[in-house]
Amino acid sequence: MILDGKAVAEKVLSEVRDRVRALAETRRVTPTLAVVLVGEDPASQVYVRGKKRAAESVGIATQDFLYPEGLTQDDLHRLIDAINMDETLHGVLLQLPLPKGMDEDAAVARIAPEKDVDGLTPANLGRLLAGSPRVVPCTPAGCLAVLDHYGATLEGAEAVVVGRSRLVGKPLAQLLLARHATVTTCHTRTKDLAAHTRRADILCVAAGRPRMVTGDMVKPGAWVIDVGVNRLDTGKLAGDVDFASAEKVAGAITPVPGGIGPMTIAMLMKNTVSAAEARLAAA
Ligand code: NAP
Repeated sequence: MILDGKAVAEKVLSEVRDRVRALAETRRVTPTLAVVLVGEDPASQVYVRGKKRAAESVGIATQDFLYPEGLTQDDLHRLIDAINMDETLHGVLLQLPLPKGMDEDAAVARIAPEKDVDGLTPANLGRLLAGSPRVVPCTPAGCLAVLDHYGATLEGAEAVVVGRSRLVGKPLAQLLLARHATVTTCHTRTKDLAAHTRRADILCVAAGRPRMVTGDMVKPGAWVIDVGVNRLDTGKLAGDVDFASAEKVAGAITPVPGGIGPMTIAMLMKNTVSAAEARLAAA
């Protein structure tokens, strides 16, 4: 079975659209996302365009804060402070990576947790670890939403996550653990990666290595979630899983593109409307 992330993302976006409409009707408020982009990284510009397009499609407004490379760390912090204080802005999208030499951790930590729609501040990651999540990082949340949509059983399942980044691997492992899977996290120092991946009922790969997980590394019938987005020399996109060989063995698998990518954007929209709702509930 192909896990159609695009279709699941459409369903999430449609629910977000209804919630945005309800806020407009009952509270006369339009959820608004501050989009902060520093520098001219072409991939970041493409991602930001995609996110803005999705926002527009569900009625979320965006306000751009675009700066050329050379913005100082202090100025970025002052900007984030101003966004944190602005009652009309409900969420902050700080597009990463920041230009070389800037301190991403410090900038992310500066975002007010209630406006942190990427779920990456220490406060929100800490809540996830503590078992009381408020905002969950978008890509891992998207992986779980796909598994849930198609009815994967997580409780008691052997789950293997390849990758341990703050953005994907670590929070994904926490989410699977919270759902009572038995979770193994693999990384570059893991000995015999294939021995681990072959045990996995749920195999999630977020390594940033094109097609590194091949069919012979997949347990027959497994659920395979491919988070990787890699641009090949040919210009084509490839996941971290070799789709052609893995599809023959897996029970269910996400394609690239059309899998976790659209889900990530949809979850960002969901986090943004949730932030606006929470703000209004607290007001
Ligand atoms: P990252 O920060 O570079 O982390 C990669 C992780 O994979 C690291 O923990 C690394 O281990 C591990 N790894 C790398 N090569 C490995 C190998 N050969 N065997 C085992 N582990 C290996 O990347 P990321 O930000 O998590 O992103 C991962 C991938 O997902 C990328 O392709 C990225 O483009 C994609 N992505 C997609 C979306 C989406 O919306 N679909 C969103 C975010 C990211 P060490 O810790 O030991 O170095």
